[in-house]
Amino acid sequence: MAIERTLSIIKPDATKRNLTGKINAKFEEAGLRIVAQKRIHLTPAQAGQFYAEHKERGFYAELCDFMASEPVVVQVLQGEGAILKNREVMGATNPANAADGTIRKEFALSVGENSVHGSDSPASAEREIGFFFSGLELVG
Ligand code: ADP
Ligand code: MG
Repeated sequence: MAIERTLSIIKPDATKRNLTGKINAKFEEAGLRIVAQKRIHLTPAQAGQFYAEHKERGFYAELCDFMASEPVVVQVLQGEGAILKNREVMGATNPANAADGTIRKEFALSVGENSVHGSDSPASAEREIGFFFSGLELVG
Protein backbone atom coordinates (compact mmCIF):
# COMPACT_ATOMS: atom_id res chain seq x y z
CA MET A 1 0.00 0.00 0.00
CA ALA A 2 1.15 3.53 -0.71
CA ILE A 3 2.28 6.14 1.78
CA GLU A 4 -0.59 8.61 2.15
CA ARG A 5 -1.36 11.82 4.04
CA THR A 6 -4.70 12.59 5.63
CA LEU A 7 -6.22 15.44 7.61
CA SER A 8 -7.06 14.83 11.26
CA ILE A 9 -8.83 17.24 13.63
CA ILE A 10 -9.00 16.89 17.39
CA LYS A 11 -12.41 18.43 18.03
CA PRO A 12 -13.53 20.90 20.76
CA ASP A 13 -14.99 18.26 23.09
CA ALA A 14 -11.56 16.59 23.23
CA THR A 15 -9.32 19.67 23.48
CA LYS A 16 -11.58 20.95 26.27
CA ARG A 17 -11.05 17.73 28.25
CA ASN A 18 -7.26 17.87 27.68
CA LEU A 19 -7.24 14.65 25.59
CA THR A 20 -4.91 15.77 22.78
CA GLY A 21 -1.99 13.65 23.95
CA LYS A 22 -4.04 10.52 24.66
CA ILE A 23 -5.66 10.72 21.23
CA ASN A 24 -2.38 11.30 19.41
CA ALA A 25 -0.81 8.35 21.24
CA LYS A 26 -3.40 6.13 19.51
CA PHE A 27 -2.41 7.47 16.08
CA GLU A 28 1.30 7.02 16.77
CA GLU A 29 0.79 3.50 18.16
CA ALA A 30 -1.00 2.64 14.88
CA GLY A 31 2.08 3.72 12.90
CA LEU A 32 0.80 7.11 11.79
CA ARG A 33 3.25 10.02 11.94
CA ILE A 34 2.15 13.61 12.67
CA VAL A 35 3.89 15.62 9.93
CA ALA A 36 2.09 18.95 10.51
CA GLN A 37 0.12 20.29 13.45
CA LYS A 38 -1.41 23.48 14.83
CA ARG A 39 -3.92 24.56 17.46
CA ILE A 40 -6.47 27.08 16.16
CA HIS A 41 -9.87 28.50 17.09
CA LEU A 42 -12.20 28.38 14.07
CA THR A 43 -14.99 30.86 13.46
CA PRO A 44 -18.43 29.37 12.68
CA ALA A 45 -17.99 30.58 9.08
CA GLN A 46 -14.64 28.81 8.71
CA ALA A 47 -16.14 25.62 10.17
CA GLY A 48 -19.03 25.95 7.72
CA GLN A 49 -16.67 26.28 4.77
CA PHE A 50 -14.70 23.22 5.90
CA TYR A 51 -17.89 21.14 6.29
CA ALA A 52 -19.61 22.55 3.16
CA GLU A 53 -20.44 19.01 1.94
CA HIS A 54 -22.89 18.72 4.89
CA LYS A 55 -24.68 22.04 4.20
CA GLU A 56 -28.06 20.40 3.57
CA ARG A 57 -27.96 18.14 6.64
CA GLY A 58 -30.12 18.91 9.65
CA PHE A 59 -27.13 18.96 11.99
CA TYR A 60 -25.04 21.45 9.93
CA ALA A 61 -25.63 24.56 12.09
CA GLU A 62 -25.07 22.59 15.28
CA LEU A 63 -21.86 21.11 13.81
CA CYS A 64 -20.50 24.54 12.81
CA ASP A 65 -21.26 26.05 16.23
CA PHE A 66 -19.69 23.06 17.98
CA MET A 67 -16.51 23.20 15.87
CA ALA A 68 -16.15 26.90 16.73
CA SER A 69 -16.93 26.49 20.44
CA GLU A 70 -13.37 25.79 21.66
CA PRO A 71 -9.92 25.44 20.05
CA VAL A 72 -9.19 22.49 17.78
CA VAL A 73 -5.92 20.81 16.82
CA VAL A 74 -5.59 20.35 13.06
CA GLN A 75 -2.90 17.97 11.90
CA VAL A 76 -1.67 15.86 9.00
CA LEU A 77 -1.07 12.15 9.56
CA GLN A 78 1.26 10.25 7.25
CA GLY A 79 1.77 6.52 6.78
CA GLU A 80 0.93 3.36 4.84
CA GLY A 81 -2.74 3.62 3.85
CA ALA A 82 -3.09 6.56 6.23
CA ILE A 83 -6.58 7.60 5.08
CA LEU A 84 -8.23 4.28 5.93
CA LYS A 85 -5.99 3.60 8.91
CA ASN A 86 -6.97 6.92 10.49
CA ARG A 87 -10.66 6.09 10.01
CA GLU A 88 -10.10 2.69 11.66
CA VAL A 89 -8.34 4.20 14.68
CA MET A 90 -11.11 6.84 14.96
CA GLY A 91 -14.00 4.35 14.94
CA ALA A 92 -17.59 4.80 13.73
CA THR A 93 -19.16 8.29 13.65
CA ASN A 94 -21.61 7.36 16.39
CA PRO A 95 -19.64 6.18 19.45
CA ALA A 96 -22.48 3.75 20.23
CA ASN A 97 -21.40 1.85 17.08
CA ALA A 98 -17.62 2.29 17.49
CA ALA A 99 -15.42 -0.78 18.01
CA ASP A 100 -13.52 -1.37 21.24
CA GLY A 101 -10.15 0.35 21.39
CA THR A 102 -11.09 3.11 18.94
CA ILE A 103 -10.82 6.80 19.84
CA ARG A 104 -14.55 7.42 19.51
CA LYS A 105 -15.44 4.38 21.63
CA GLU A 106 -13.08 5.53 24.36
CA PHE A 107 -13.53 9.30 24.29
CA ALA A 108 -16.53 10.53 22.22
CA LEU A 109 -19.49 12.04 24.07
CA SER A 110 -22.15 11.72 21.33
CA VAL A 111 -22.59 11.39 17.56
CA GLY A 112 -21.96 15.14 17.25
CA GLU A 113 -19.28 15.62 19.90
CA ASN A 114 -17.21 12.70 18.69
CA SER A 115 -13.67 13.92 19.43
CA VAL A 116 -12.02 13.54 16.00
CA HIS A 117 -12.38 14.24 12.28
CA GLY A 118 -10.62 12.29 9.54
CA SER A 119 -10.64 12.66 5.74
CA ASP A 120 -12.72 9.96 4.06
CA SER A 121 -11.03 9.66 0.63
CA PRO A 122 -7.88 10.75 -1.25
CA ALA A 123 -9.79 13.66 -2.83
CA SER A 124 -11.08 14.83 0.58
CA ALA A 125 -7.63 14.47 2.10
CA GLU A 126 -6.11 16.69 -0.57
CA ARG A 127 -8.78 19.38 -0.19
CA GLU A 128 -8.79 19.28 3.61
CA ILE A 129 -4.99 19.38 4.00
CA GLY A 130 -4.90 22.35 1.59
CA PHE A 131 -7.64 24.07 3.61
CA PHE A 132 -5.37 24.34 6.67
CA PHE A 133 -1.75 23.90 5.54
CA SER A 134 0.70 25.08 2.90
CA GLY A 135 3.17 22.60 1.45
CA LEU A 136 5.98 24.25 3.43
CA GLU A 137 4.27 23.25 6.68
CA LEU A 138 4.24 19.51 5.91
CA VAL A 139 7.45 18.09 7.31
CA GLY A 140 7.72 14.32 6.88
P1 ADP B 1 -17.43 11.37 10.04
O1 ADP B 1 -16.89 12.47 10.92
O2 ADP B 1 -17.36 10.02 10.70
O3 ADP B 1 -16.82 11.36 8.65
P2 ADP B 1 -19.81 12.56 8.80
O4 ADP B 1 -18.90 13.06 7.73
O5 ADP B 1 -21.01 11.80 8.39
O6 ADP B 1 -19.00 11.67 9.86
O7 ADP B 1 -20.32 13.78 9.69
C1 ADP B 1 -19.45 14.85 10.01
C2 ADP B 1 -19.64 15.21 11.46
O8 ADP B 1 -20.95 15.74 11.65
C3 ADP B 1 -19.57 14.03 12.45
O9 ADP B 1 -18.26 13.63 12.79
C4 ADP B 1 -20.32 14.62 13.65
O10 ADP B 1 -19.50 15.52 14.39
C5 ADP B 1 -21.43 15.40 12.95
N1 ADP B 1 -22.64 14.58 12.81
C6 ADP B 1 -22.84 13.55 11.95
N2 ADP B 1 -24.06 13.01 12.11
C7 ADP B 1 -24.67 13.73 13.09
C8 ADP B 1 -25.95 13.68 13.72
N3 ADP B 1 -26.85 12.78 13.36
N4 ADP B 1 -26.21 14.59 14.69
C9 ADP B 1 -25.31 15.53 15.05
N5 ADP B 1 -24.08 15.63 14.50
C10 ADP B 1 -23.75 14.75 13.54
MG1 MG C 1 -16.92 12.79 7.17
